Amino acid sequence: EHAQLKDIISHAKEYGFVYPSSEIYDGLQAVYDYGAYGVELKNNLKRLWWETMTRVSDNIVGIDAAIFMHPTTWKASGHVDSFNDPMIDNKDSKKRYRADVLVEEHAATFERAGDIEKANSLTGALARLLEAEDLAGVRDLITNEGIKCPISGTSNWTDVRQFNLMFSTQVGSVAEDASTIYLRPETAQGIFVNFLNVQKTARMKVPFGIAQIGKAFRNEIVARQFIFRMREFEQMEMQFFVRPGTELDWYQKWADTRMRWHLALGTPAAKLRKHDHEKLAHYANAAMDIEFEFPFGFKEVEGIHSRTDFDLKSHQEYSKKKQQYFDPEINQNYIPYVIETSIGADRLFLLTLCNAYTEESSEEKSRTYLKFHPAIAPVKAAILPLTKKDGLPEKAQEIVDLLKYDFNIIYEDAASIGKRYARQDLIGTPFCIAVDHQTLEDNTVTIRHRDTTEQERVAISELHGRITEATSF
Ligand code: ATP
Repeated sequence: EHAQLKDIISHAKEYGFVYPSSEIYDGLQAVYDYGAYGVELKNNLKRLWWETMTRVSDNIVGIDAAIFMHPTTWKASGHVDSFNDPMIDNKDSKKRYRADVLVEEHAATFERAGDIEKANSLTGALARLLEAEDLAGVRDLITNEGIKCPISGTSNWTDVRQFNLMFSTQVGSVAEDASTIYLRPETAQGIFVNFLNVQKTARMKVPFGIAQIGKAFRNEIVARQFIFRMREFEQMEMQFFVRPGTELDWYQKWADTRMRWHLALGTPAAKLRKHDHEKLAHYANAAMDIEFEFPFGFKEVEGIHSRTDFDLKSHQEYSKKKQQYFDPEINQNYIPYVIETSIGADRLFLLTLCNAYTEESSEEKSRTYLKFHPAIAPVKAAILPLTKKDGLPEKAQEIVDLLKYDFNIIYEDAASIGKRYARQDLIGTPFCIAVDHQTLEDNTVTIRHRDTTEQERVAISELHGRITEATSF
């Protein structure tokens, strides 16, 4: 694991952001739980996304569809037949890997060493083999390159086989006619099957969008990049339905809009890039990723896909229910085309954590802090009475009561004020508000700012306005 990622993982665990799932039983691979500050941060990210989509954008409404769906959904979407990853097993360690990821990681070592040509020729060869579904070729590539298992250190590999990524379970009692259903591998299909319900009941006119946040499940094999790739994760997806022929304009527009959103959240432009897909999925006529430079390199955080009418048309075929929209402006019936923006809430969380994690050291002192945009910081302000006596705790509590209905506030009276500042830095609280003896006299407090550590004196009556301003997005 990359050194900085290691620091971030242990910071996340130690300060209440992310723990391995069921840790007392040694965890469950690629599954994680969010702690007290983690859940606040994640909720803030989800809320910002939701508000941007459903409130700030024109013509987008939300839904919350079930995780279980009729099994035919996944026939129609193509997931039963083609949602596969090529897997390979090492015969010595008995460990299973994604064959494509093994090659990509191997190529990345050349890229890091400056041999871009070799890296490109490897990824190019891989892309051609996958395109041709030549699994034996992928295995040959792995053995010819001498790619070794990270655990056993040998290159004693099995054949490459396709594994479906969907988790399945049974509805009904097993003894009766149980039928196999899947945990949804993406939230998008819940939107497609509800397209006409929403269009009619919310009285939407094309172009319009439907947004959804929810859990998705994939039986992923790679599990070494913390919450980057999980087996249970959350997606934030928006499907935008447009008139056929206008989709590529909307595709550009959404790609730009989403990029601006990331920049507004404080992600530096230099750490973001767009990456056009060379190889398009069966449903797309244009696709790109927004990539972020994680400690382990530039990787996808969000996908923007022009999905044509593939999904709705396919659901129309399988369900025998018309999925058409009557467009009153041009007096025509058609199946709309779809632009999708799809981002993982957990992956955005990891991006946010990587961006925020700051280690500062100067001659006088060194400190670690999380430099969150105040709009997404888990705790907005900590109210800290200087001492536990002379009525300071009571005064501090009054300030808590003044703010707690609108902001997530912490009260803390243990330890020295310096230690308490340091502790708030570690969870990324933008404002520490110290209550001292002068507060009792003139109703002013000291605000200590997280990023600059500068302090200023302000009236209690100004606090609410100050925090509101800083936390608006
Ligand atoms: P990848 O190539 O990384 O597997 P993908 O292209 O399969 O991703 P999509 O199916 O387009 O991803 O999913 C959209 C978004 O959902 C991704 O951009 C990512 O943010 C998120 N996502 C997908 N799979 C996972 C996962 N296993 N864990 C966490 N987030 C995920």
